[in-house]
Amino acid sequence: MSFCQEVKKELCRIEPKKLHCREAALYGVLRLSRTFPQEEIVFKTENKFFADRFAQELAAFGTFVEVRSDLRRLKGDTPVYPVIVSDEYQRRLLSRHFMLDVSGFHPPFVERSCCVAAFFREVFLAFGSVTNPEKEYHLEINALNSLFAEEMYLLAQNMGIRFKTTKRKGSEILYLKESEQIEDFLTFLGATKSVLKLMDIKVMKDVRNKVNRTTNCETANLKKTVSAAGSQAQDIRFILEHRDITWLDEDLRELALLRVENEDLSLRELSTRISVPLSRSGVNHRLRRIAEAAAKLREDLDAQKGETEV
Ligand SMILES: [Zn+2]
Repeated sequence: MSFCQEVKKELCRIEPKKLHCREAALYGVLRLSRTFPQEEIVFKTENKFFADRFAQELAAFGTFVEVRSDLRRLKGDTPVYPVIVSDEYQRRLLSRHFMLDVSGFHPPFVERSCCVAAFFREVFLAFGSVTNPEKEYHLEINALNSLFAEEMYLLAQNMGIRFKTTKRKGSEILYLKESEQIEDFLTFLGATKSVLKLMDIKVMKDVRNKVNRTTNCETANLKKTVSAAGSQAQDIRFILEHRDITWLDEDLRELALLRVENEDLSLRELSTRISVPLSRSGVNHRLRRIAEAAAKLREDLDAQKGETEV
């Protein structure tokens, strides 16, 4: 089961008890329906449980309603269930009761905060989705048009939730991208179990990111060591190509040979391998002297070359 299905399953179990909340829930879905009341379909869902529950709630208002399984419109392996009020007279009654001809939202249905929660819960069940938080934080509601998007934006804002809006395929989409906002919204809807799961995933993700960052950091340090060692070895090879090892000061010779043969050793490892043990900074100091000697040799050779050319 996807995270979205889990959230919806949890939300489906919450049944508003008070009449005003039950009306607000029905109102949200009827109002945001793409086709209703002109056409018989109120909405379609892959969630049979939600379709049945919604049909029951409509039936409690005296409406004859049916849920069909539309097997022609399979989404993956799941059939889509349209909730249908086929009788035109009943559609007109519902439309009048819920004042669906009033543009925007009719305030009495979304005045109390309990009703706003019931409204959003049902609207999210019918027209919303949430992405698996393992992948990304994203929750959205298809708001149909910009008027509804704006009104829902304001309703949510009053509850401390700030949706963002975008357009997709001619529909206005309300969405949340921040995990805290998604948590707040789902908590407001009553999906506390899902919120706990989301928080767990977030903690795991943070730990994983931290581990990755540390590993990256270590890799970067390792690269630094390797590249420093590489250039030290290059200097030493340069010296050996043009001069004998005895050209170097006596106390540098052993270290130079050790370095050129072991590019992968860290300073600390070098310091323990040398016959007269040195501190790490002692090794560093001597390697710097070797680098200076190589630089001097390069300069001298360049100068000589210049002289011969003249
Ligand atoms: Zn209420």
